[in-house]
Order: sequence, then structure tokens, then C-alpha cells
Amino acid sequence: MNLPPATAAPVTTEARLAYVLRHFWLAYQPAPPVRIGYAADRPQVEVLEGAVDFFSGHEPYPAAPNFRAWQEQQVPFFFDAHPERPLLELLPGRAVVSADVVSAAFYLLSGWQEYFCAERDQHGRFPYAASVQQRYGFVALPVVNYYFDVLRRAVEHVSGQALQPRRWAADAPFATFVTHDIDNLYSAWKEPAKAALKRGNLLGFGRHLWQHLAQPDAWDNLEQVQQNVAAYGASSTFFFIPNYGRSTEHGPYNADYRLHKLIPRVQTLAAKSEIGLHGSIGSARTPQQLGAEAEAIGEALTDKGQRLGLRFHYLQWEPRVTPEHLTGLGALYDSTLGFAEHFGFRHSYCLPFRLFDFKHGQAFDFLEIPLNLMDATLHHPRYLRLAPAEIMPAIQPMLQEIERFGGVFTLLWHNENFDPANSANGPREFHRIMEYLRGRGTAFLTGRAICAAVQE
Ligand SMILES: [Zn+2]
Repeated sequence: MNLPPATAAPVTTEARLAYVLRHFWLAYQPAPPVRIGYAADRPQVEVLEGAVDFFSGHEPYPAAPNFRAWQEQQVPFFFDAHPERPLLELLPGRAVVSADVVSAAFYLLSGWQEYFCAERDQHGRFPYAASVQQRYGFVALPVVNYYFDVLRRAVEHVSGQALQPRRWAADAPFATFVTHDIDNLYSAWKEPAKAALKRGNLLGFGRHLWQHLAQPDAWDNLEQVQQNVAAYGASSTFFFIPNYGRSTEHGPYNADYRLHKLIPRVQTLAAKSEIGLHGSIGSARTPQQLGAEAEAIGEALTDKGQRLGLRFHYLQWEPRVTPEHLTGLGALYDSTLGFAEHFGFRHSYCLPFRLFDFKHGQAFDFLEIPLNLMDATLHHPRYLRLAPAEIMPAIQPMLQEIERFGGVFTLLWHNENFDPANSANGPREFHRIMEYLRGRGTAFLTGRAICAAVQE
């Protein structure tokens, strides 16, 4: 698979600062009129520059970060040119942040590493193994939120006003975005039938085949999924693939259903849930294909012409072209950006944010609601292989980080993993996570509701 070229203009200090501060001021309430910047701006909160000319080049990785303690965490600080100085100096009427948290936040939020790194896996994805999160071991820590927390403390000092992380619907301390990628509706019978055939158990194979023909498939469960989620007073988001069958002769499968045959069901679901696009294999790189698929979803909905949220099948994403295709489409939000290989924070941030347009030196318009946890990550043979009892202890620290910063937890649970036959990452594991979240007082919101809540 050939990679589109990286065609980026050098990023100016002003562009970096504007991009990062725009996110910072959205993360807290209220926003007192405090100037944050580098020495040349004579700001009240001064950040010491540490990036030299990194952002005028095309290197994917900066020098190794220094780890410093903040809020009882060891936090990696990139572009930390003054490790001998205290991280934060509170002086009369002003404050100095000695690590360049603006450059470091820009580096992580913008997606710089994946834009300039040329490594991709067999599905065309930026691999976790090539990330700074993997290299320095901070995938489950929303590091940019920690940088912002340093700035928060500085702003509080200068303004004499306490800043609070944003709150969600009904004053909830954090939000949860429950999503389902609908890849398969009719294939639950296939694996057990194949296994029976392999064992030479023709009778068993015949029984699976007969059941398949005579009974609804265990994965044909969209309405049950909706009810399962509704039991928590929640509504969730279903992403449908408008593209049937194998993507190419030997390529991965898209949907095992034909969307146009599901239209009445999709419209009924849409009364209580959100419907979005699950972009098929290749659509992340092909604007015509993506446009046609968005149209097909639009046609399936009664409320036509609404801006869509989406996630790409296989979490496909090409940082050098996908964001501008989404902009061209007028997408409302995307929720693809998590690592398939590990739960956590691919951009080290636990709030919705805007990716950076390296061609034009500004933020993209659509919101990214980053994906934190995919069901498959927990148990897939190539990913984490956690036993059911290991799941909550593994993900709880990440959930606590999201709660601490008033963020959004995005969960992907495929409809096929509501099949009671799945005892590894199935309905029991889903409910355990949901019960924990409910117990923490989260607000369950759809992507659309999250976008409405964070609009500037
Ligand atoms: Zn999918």
C-alpha cells in the first residue's frame, strides 16, 4: 500500500499556541482573561520555549521526554529544556512553566507522530508499536490533560479564580459514549459450523446449518443491543457499513448484511439511538467511496441531510488524507482514533478535540471523539488476551483518569459480542463495565450530544 506524501508547511509558534490554547480554554470553566504564551508576548503565564526548530522539520519523533511528578503521577514532558528548574514557579502576579507544555501538547494532540512517521500495518494503520505512547509507556495516561492541569494551576494563581473541569449533562463528572460497529448480523453460526466440519462431525455441522436456516442468527440482535443499553438509561450509537461482502478478492470482509434491506429496522432504531457511518475498507483513503457511503446512510434515515458521525471499519485511518476527506464530507465527528492493540489515549487526551491540518496550519472543523476501548482489544489473539476477571483491574486506572479530568470515555462493543456464547469479551464483560460507569455517575451521551455539549 503506497503512502500519500506528507505535504506540510512549517508550523509557526503562533499557530501552535493558538491551536493548543483553544483546546485548553474549552477544557475548563470559567475562562478568566489570563494571557498564556512565550516570553516574547510578555504573558502572565509564561511557558519556556523548548522545541527549538523541531516544528519546522519533518521528524516524527522528538527527543525522549523527562518524567516529572505532577498530581502524584509521573508524567512525560517532551520539549523540557530546563529539567533543573521547578516545573511551575508561582511569582507575584505571574507564573512560569519551565517545560514547553504548549509544544508537547501540540505534538501529541495534532497527530504529528503519525502524520510524519511512514510506518503502517497490514491494514494501513499507524501501529501502536511505532508510537511514543508505546515507547515511553504512557498510553493509558492522558498526558495532554496533565499539561493543561499545570496551566490551570498557573491561571488560578494569576487570576485568583478556581477553574473546574467541564461538567456534563445533569452535572455528571464525565461522559460515556457507547458505540457499536455493525459488521455482522448473520454469521454467528459460521465458526461453530466450521469447527464441527473440521472435526469431521457432519451431524454437528448439519445441525448448525439447519439452525442457521430455520432460526434467527444470534448476532441479528440490534434491538436487543438497544434494550441492553437502555437498561442503564443510556442511548448508544450504531455505525453501519453500506458495503457488502469482501472488500477485494482476498481482502477483509465488509458487512455481512445489505444495508438497504435493513432500512425499516434502522429507522426504528434511530428513534432512540444514534445512527452513524462505519466507513468500509478503503473508504478512509477514497473520498468518492466515502461520499457514496455517507449518502447511503443518509438515504436509510428519515432525518436526511444531517451531518454524520462515523468510525472506519478496522479502525482504518490515513492521517495524511482522511481528515481532509472528512472535512470535504462535512462530517460532524469521527471516533476512529484509538489503538486497536491497546486501550488508552492515542492522542494522549481524554476530551473531544480537533486534529491539526498540516497543509493549512489550522485545526480541522470536525470533532474527533477518540476511541478508548474496543472489545476486541481485550481478547483478540494479536492484542491483549485478558481473562474476564482481568478486564476491570486493567481498565480502571484509565477510567479514573477520564473522570479526574471530566473527559469522555468512548467504548466500542460490537453487536456480535452481545452473543451469550461469548464468555471472553461478551455481554457479561460489557455489563460489568457499564455497571462500574453507572456507579461513578457518568452521563451516557451519543456522539451528536457530545458535539452539542462541547461546541464553542
Ligand atoms: Zn468494523
